Amino acid sequence: MTSVDGDNQHPLRETARLAVDAAGGAGLRDALHEPGAWLRAGKLVAFPTETVYGLGANALDEEAVRAVFAAKRRPSFNPLIVHVDSLARAGDVVRAIPETAYRLAAAFWPGPLTMVLPRSAAVPDVVTGGLDTVGVRAPSHPVARALISAAGVPIAAPSANLFTQVSPTTAQHVLDHLDGRIDAVVDGGATDVGIESTVVAVEGDGPLVLLRDGGISREELQQHGFEVAAPAGDEDAGAARRSPGRIARHYAPGLPLIEVARGRDGALKLPAAAQSFALLARGDARGAEGASTTEVLPTDVAGFTSGLYAAMHRFAASDCEVVYVEALPERPEWRAVADRLRRAGLGR
Ligand code: AMP
Ligand code: MG
Repeated sequence: MTSVDGDNQHPLRETARLAVDAAGGAGLRDALHEPGAWLRAGKLVAFPTETVYGLGANALDEEAVRAVFAAKRRPSFNPLIVHVDSLARAGDVVRAIPETAYRLAAAFWPGPLTMVLPRSAAVPDVVTGGLDTVGVRAPSHPVARALISAAGVPIAAPSANLFTQVSPTTAQHVLDHLDGRIDAVVDGGATDVGIESTVVAVEGDGPLVLLRDGGISREELQQHGFEVAAPAGDEDAGAARRSPGRIARHYAPGLPLIEVARGRDGALKLPAAAQSFALLARGDARGAEGASTTEVLPTDVAGFTSGLYAAMHRFAASDCEVVYVEALPERPEWRAVADRLRRAGLGR
């Protein structure tokens, strides 16, 4: 630690990049032995999950968790999700596990579902933003699973990006934001789901309270027999109160996003006085010739979601002045993506 960067006196350090083969089976355990030990010892290690890359720290080590907030420049009222390898291991950080949580874990873990449960005394306040609850999830990505088990401690991990910016779906995205601010990144290739986990509060036998749309849709929760309630109050304000991290500006590429529709002929209809623009479309880019950066994502929701943040990172790095975004279908399965694009600035 020899230098500091100007904005917040954050000490710069060497960030190790460790490439691993996500399909590595038993070899993965060996490869992650050392980063697991670093985590246990209080260092910051970014790693892939099936949703986005997380910036991990030992959840039981207050100082390590504080360092996560500093590296991301994230305000400390915003709670972190604690990553575990099973509901049994969640027992280290939660006080009580209601029956509903067992059924949720059986249906959706490992996977992109975070449960907000009563916290145990072992969890430092800084992890939960002082709340009496803690968010826990068991990720399904083989690298995340092997790393959590190598660390042998629960891992608190927000997305591995600077606060309010686009979440990382590759190790390079992590380094673009956090090189010199964290100890290591484990490179396991591009993530699959591409947006963050769904967050639900589990309150005894009551309905689940949906705090954030994400990798698992409300409909999937309902199809598995779970009752899903919106947070009390206006849905967005209610969720923000219950889940302080749901601030409006988030996931933002730092450019205006403007929605565009297609005409009857199926071509995109762009505003006449087009500046230097980028385009985010589904399926094809007809009608939008002349874009400086064109991102055509798949028309299915999973394919689109998986590619969305990588496209946003490219927009952020381009020199365009505005991004035209093809309007999304108004169907329930598109809700999580619509939520992220709105927080990134679409329609504001
Ligand atoms: P991320 O932004 O992906 O790091 O996910 C963290 C988000 O999960 C927070 O910003 C909250 O919205 C939510 N969350 C985590 N822990 C809790 C908790 N104890 N209570 C309510 N929401 C939580
Ligand atoms: Mg985040």
